[in-house]
Amino acid sequence: MQGIFEDPVIAAMAAGKETTWFRQSRTPTAQALSNSGLDPALIDDASDRFQRFAPWILREFPETGINHGILESPVHGLPRLQTELDTRLGRALGGKLWLKRDDLLPVAGSIKARGGIHEVLQVAERFALEAGVISPDDDYTRFADQDVQAVLGRYGIMVGSTGNLGLSIGITAARLGLRTTVHMSADARDWKKQLLRSHGVTVVEHQGDFSQAVDAGRAEAAADSTVHFVDDENSLPLFAGYAVAARRLEGQLRGLGITVDGQHPLMVYLPCGVGGSPGGVTFGLKHVFGDNVHCYFAEPANCPAVTLGVRTGLHEKISAFDLGLDGKTTADGLAVARPSELVGRALADVIDGYCTVTDEKMQALTALLDSCEGIRVEPSATAGLLLPWRVFGHPDFAEIPGLVNATHLVWCTGGSMVPEDEMARYLAQGQQELGRIGSW
Ligand SMILES: *Cc1c(COP(=O)(O)O)cnc(C)c1O
Repeated sequence: MQGIFEDPVIAAMAAGKETTWFRQSRTPTAQALSNSGLDPALIDDASDRFQRFAPWILREFPETGINHGILESPVHGLPRLQTELDTRLGRALGGKLWLKRDDLLPVAGSIKARGGIHEVLQVAERFALEAGVISPDDDYTRFADQDVQAVLGRYGIMVGSTGNLGLSIGITAARLGLRTTVHMSADARDWKKQLLRSHGVTVVEHQGDFSQAVDAGRAEAAADSTVHFVDDENSLPLFAGYAVAARRLEGQLRGLGITVDGQHPLMVYLPCGVGGSPGGVTFGLKHVFGDNVHCYFAEPANCPAVTLGVRTGLHEKISAFDLGLDGKTTADGLAVARPSELVGRALADVIDGYCTVTDEKMQALTALLDSCEGIRVEPSATAGLLLPWRVFGHPDFAEIPGLVNATHLVWCTGGSMVPEDEMARYLAQGQQELGRIGSW
């Protein structure tokens, strides 16, 4: 770890400053994907599983009716916010700004509805198949039947979470009859703990950070062979669930009349915690759009994880605490100091760039998104909103063909389940920060 502070990017990170840097390697996408060692068949497998479970999801969560039990979110334009940020940043973004509304995903209200729910379904399916109560061509509404629930009740599922992963896993697993325990880090919001308890989930509170909550869950599950541990720092089922987003997005963009090709790049900006959700989405997108999609990760300046792991090459062997940062951030969904083992190591050559953003800006953007577009989300979800301007204005990027015609898609990762009083506080804080920010 010695000598890392000689890197000006690491030195800036250690000072809690915003950083922006881009992948140096020019490995073509197809080659980089193949080097990742991750099998693209994961995506089809997860997609098929969501399809098998759609009748059960529709039955248990009728709000999924518009998509027939498939968990998906819309894409919305942000014309007023684009104009507002053009003015505030003093330069006009080429191309058009869009928002992927994973804040509206049903059941969990965040991007975790993709990965977390997929892993729960995979585990429940395996337990039920092994016990012989389900066969592969059954109608999966059988998962609501008493005999299946009785079998699943012999098994447990456990996870460590800053909040949203716990919500997605807890709500779904409890509905399937699995014994469910969520280890929550100190950052987790009280309303998330209460909501989980109301679903019959056991919530264990920890004073420490995310990694400690994960370690506690891992240790407890290891002692009991009937308990499955969802390992957010290293899980392929989570990763695969996130990756399914990409193929569906392809159809959505086509439906909106948006072209993605060599002259019309798709630029995607993803809030990043441990790296699983942005990594999975990126893996899926690169398989679909190849060299025509460019993916950028956004992390809190006070709690960088993946950007730190990739930049130093130390991956999960380094954490924000090693830089002397305290890791505290208003973006509780991104309050992760140590990166995933899986994502940075496999995808460092695939991810196009890494940015950190201060808490003040995420708060201010939460207020701006509301005042310009009437969209209310949690602060974590806004981490990617400034990145289009950072990338667009950067000299390294003039070379992306067709950048002036780009589709800038900011992934909005959570917020529709935030209680009203909590949301009012976010907006009030955001308005204050908006008044204070001198330079964007
Ligand atoms: C979890 C989460 C993320 C980041 O996902 P990781 O898999 O931890 O990188 C981003 N936004 C929100 C709202 C989240 O809950």
